[in-house]
Amino acid sequence: MAERYGDVGLDSPLRDVGVNPKHLKALDEKIGVRTVGDLLRYYPRKYNERGKLTELGKLQVGEKATVWARITDVKENQINRFSHRGPKSGVKLITKVVISDGRHRLSCAFFNQWHIAKVLKVGMEAMFAGTVKEFRGEMQLSSPQWAKLSGEGEAEEDIEILESFAGGIIPIYPLVEGLSQPMIQGAIKVVLKLLGEIDDPVPTEILAAQGMTDLDSALRDIHRPRSSKELQAAQRRLKYDEALAIQLVLARRREQARSFPAEPCPRVPDGLLAAFDAALPFTLTPGQQAVGEQIALDLSTIHPMNRLLQGEVGSGKTVVALRAMLQVIDSGRQAVLLAPTEVLAAQHARSLRTVLGPLGEGGELGAPPEATRISLLTGSMTASARKEALLTIASGQAGIAVGTHALLSDGVFFAELGLVVVDEQHRFGVEQRDALRSKGPDGNPPHVLVMTATPIPRTVAMTVYGDLETSTLSELPKGRSPISTTVVPAGEKPAWLDRAWQRVHEEVGKGHQVYIVCPKIADEPGKRSSEDDADSEWDAPDDGGADSVDEKRPPLSVEHVATLLAEGPLADLRLATLHGRMVPADKDETMRRFAAGEIDVLVSTTVIEVGVDVANATMMVIMDAERFGLSQLHQLRGRVGRGSAPGICLLVTEAPGGSPSRMRLAAVEATTDGFELADRDLELRKEGNVLGTSQAGTASALRQLSLTTDRDIVEAARHDAQDLVDSDPGFGKFPGLLAMAESVIGDEGQEFLTKG
Ligand code: ADP
Ligand code: MG
Repeated sequence: MAERYGDVGLDSPLRDVGVNPKHLKALDEKIGVRTVGDLLRYYPRKYNERGKLTELGKLQVGEKATVWARITDVKENQINRFSHRGPKSGVKLITKVVISDGRHRLSCAFFNQWHIAKVLKVGMEAMFAGTVKEFRGEMQLSSPQWAKLSGEGEAEEDIEILESFAGGIIPIYPLVEGLSQPMIQGAIKVVLKLLGEIDDPVPTEILAAQGMTDLDSALRDIHRPRSSKELQAAQRRLKYDEALAIQLVLARRREQARSFPAEPCPRVPDGLLAAFDAALPFTLTPGQQAVGEQIALDLSTIHPMNRLLQGEVGSGKTVVALRAMLQVIDSGRQAVLLAPTEVLAAQHARSLRTVLGPLGEGGELGAPPEATRISLLTGSMTASARKEALLTIASGQAGIAVGTHALLSDGVFFAELGLVVVDEQHRFGVEQRDALRSKGPDGNPPHVLVMTATPIPRTVAMTVYGDLETSTLSELPKGRSPISTTVVPAGEKPAWLDRAWQRVHEEVGKGHQVYIVCPKIADEPGKRSSEDDADSEWDAPDDGGADSVDEKRPPLSVEHVATLLAEGPLADLRLATLHGRMVPADKDETMRRFAAGEIDVLVSTTVIEVGVDVANATMMVIMDAERFGLSQLHQLRGRVGRGSAPGICLLVTEAPGGSPSRMRLAAVEATTDGFELADRDLELRKEGNVLGTSQAGTASALRQLSLTTDRDIVEAARHDAQDLVDSDPGFGKFPGLLAMAESVIGDEGQEFLTKG
């Protein structure tokens, strides 16, 4: 039989191997399955277990069992729909099939299966599997699964059915409209029968080192596991393939990035950086020093740096980045600092000017000779201000340009771009990094440093930012005051909320300032606020929706809360609002006034989430806290306690005690470890949200691999991928690996990895 189709391999089109032609179209159109390989990589969603093969006389009520018997009687019983004594509503036909092994009898009941009497005939031998129930004092299998045995003749086939049926683990495939289990099962069956031995593209040494099963076994066992041990081995191998595929793509990308030339920017003994270090009012933490050395080294090589700097809020990433910028300026190059919003860009420019002091006043009277200039460029600047900024950047007078992504747009020319620092941006993917290439001198890519304060679980960092080298600042500078977090259950204990407003007064009384954060800008039924859209995917509280407190009450808005407070409990304080729908100039002005202490209480959306640094702000009240993601809450509270006074964060919620929402908030209350929360957050959200959207049933990058639980596999794969790329950059020795990577993660996955 097999000969008729020649050699069947993973590349063979399904249409050539004898899959039911009627099903080919559905497989292709519904789930994009065209080849044998596509089909075999369409893994079961779950497995059901059938009961063990049991003799009819030894059945136990309540147990799962599989029996092998001959049909002795088939009776159809149509239920009169006017009968009040019908068994279950909706049941119109009961087919009672009596089976026997010669000594014992058992009845099987099928409901509304109009065709069953046509296939199950008296005299036929078959296997039946189901849970044994008791019905009117008799044992019965209700709607059992069944498989026909041929009887005498083709004994070999019977044994196969027997083996796969009894005690078997039954694969259940993900379905979409227009596909059925039998359709997929049937195609799999045909394919597995004809498929020749599958070559394993992963080198044997790696498989051996990882204790991993071969691809041939894995792809067969995932569909036809004979034991749960086999199944687990297959799953582990296929997970590893996914992890390896992703890591190979990333390792090659790192390799390619490294192969570009870059102008080395070594440290110099008496430049801007040296002057800055000499004037630094504090000692760098050991982490800042170590990462600083690493970056200094990266910058002095002839290939561009591509580094991710991770660090808790307040861990002092900005100083590290600034020192990198100064090193680059010392080599006559420019640095760019990109912020996710204009407010943050403006704030960065302000604080850089403050921190650099005279060293940032290049060209001005009395500035030291090594001084440079900081140029802010935002979309909302007046034409003349913009023109001036563009000029100082193009002429090279500005050593540091600060702005949003607009800075990378056409029409902005740099004299000598050497380094791009990206602050607090989760979506600065490879594509954006690629866009930078043309900005460097001679079309070469500049050095890139991406900073993030959202602690990213390691597995995600290795995947989403997998083409970057990673550094982490794990300790906070000394003297940082702790933040205490308290959940305020406003529903159960309204008095606590009154106490919260009292507490706001106390902080302001001590000369401090307070943030009040709301999930929404204004009360507009049915309309999404712009802030919702601006929310990074990473932080979107999508997992909270499931148990939102009260579907009827819309989320509290900045405008509503600000009005209530201004007319009520905080009437005597200086209140202002801040949100993404304000014009940039107003936002800047509000931030400036808050930073200058002219505002006591700032009611805002999450625009203050990232990077805002007002050391005098010591308290944050987050309204409808259950509507935010865990990482986001952590990020938000990092805005207080940046000075020497202890920070307070109140999580106000109406979610009932004991609800999942409350448990999430309790987690934020209980730990200040952002990484722990990030891991919790990952567990609580669907992985599809981490790796872009993936539709049910379509090929998506991760089908077996879980970024939550398969950390060891991701780490092993990353290590192996690096080794493979190091030893054989073009994969000349392992030609099948790239093909496997492509088939495993598909276009969608590749695209995701490119966009970041
Ligand atoms: P983040 O990592 O959140 O960007 P920042 O770089 O904004 O943190 O640092 C937070 C604050 O801590 C800033 O005011 C900064 O000047 C200060 N800081 C940074 N490093 C140190 C240090 N080693 N010792 C004391 N204060 C520091
Ligand atoms: Mg920062």
